[in-house]
Amino acid sequence: MTKGIIFDIKRYAIHDGPGIRTTVFFKGCPLSCYWCHNPEGQRAQPELVYNRAVCLRCGECVRHCAADFLLQNERGHIVLPVKECPECGECAKVCPSQALEYIGKLMSVEEVMSEVDKDRLFYEESGGGVTFSGGEPFAQPEFLEELLIRCRAKKYHTTVDTCGYVPGVVLARIAPLVDLFLFDIKIMNTEVHRKYMGRANWGILENMKRLAKAGKTIMIRIPVIPGITDTEQNLNDMIAFLKKLSDIHEVALLPFHAAGEAKYKKLRRRKPVRNIMPPSEAKMNDLRRLFENNGFSVKIGG
Ligand code: SF4
Ligand code: SF4
Repeated sequence: MTKGIIFDIKRYAIHDGPGIRTTVFFKGCPLSCYWCHNPEGQRAQPELVYNRAVCLRCGECVRHCAADFLLQNERGHIVLPVKECPECGECAKVCPSQALEYIGKLMSVEEVMSEVDKDRLFYEESGGGVTFSGGEPFAQPEFLEELLIRCRAKKYHTTVDTCGYVPGVVLARIAPLVDLFLFDIKIMNTEVHRKYMGRANWGILENMKRLAKAGKTIMIRIPVIPGITDTEQNLNDMIAFLKKLSDIHEVALLPFHAAGEAKYKKLRRRKPVRNIMPPSEAKMNDLRRLFENNGFSVKIGG
């Protein structure tokens, strides 16, 4: 039975493709974008997080940890294991205040589909369907493929939100099962891409070309990160690249927002990019005009 690690399933999503959708978030991503607003999706494994502010200091978690991994300090606060714990999740289950939270759950295809099936009437009525997002869905290819096959059998519209960092053979095998790709493009210069995302971009750009050539429906998503992705050079290079691809007409500009800050704190991770302010409305309108003047239809936001 194929299983995968999921960190969230959101029902009634309206920004992840057409109509009303269920969005399934896969855990694990090959990139590590400086501005990532879903850092809980980056690591492939489930992880335990602790929010001291809401801890009741009751000690229930310590008593239920069969592996003796948790400690309570002299003030009653919990000290998380330094080494990886066996990840049974028991402590989070017994925590009365959700101070301990276990992010990521191993789920079978059947379990995910039973969640997805709950809203099939909404999909039919709204022209919606199912979106696989993350993290990076293609980082768990067998699980993604199996879910897409099940969705196809039920005639659900399928969308995959991808960073594009996928082996070409995997993409070629799975792409026919996908109705719509939400494909992120961020930085055109390979070295700058490597600096801000940890990997080179040539494979991503090749994959975008492949999908366009195969006639797949693609919505390009561009995160607008002031001083990083919105430089004149980067945007001009991006437009020149996109104009060469056939049938790519739609672009979504996603303004940076600081919503991920609290998540980094909770995960005890330092956010690599600090002091970035969201782009102004005037800036977003300038960018909208730039893309429209180059023949793209533009949407601001997801
Ligand atoms: S997940 Fe399990 S092993 Fe890890 S700290 Fe919690 S109870 Fe202990
Ligand atoms: S069970 Fe929850 S509330 Fe109680 S000490 Fe542990 S983390 Fe704090």
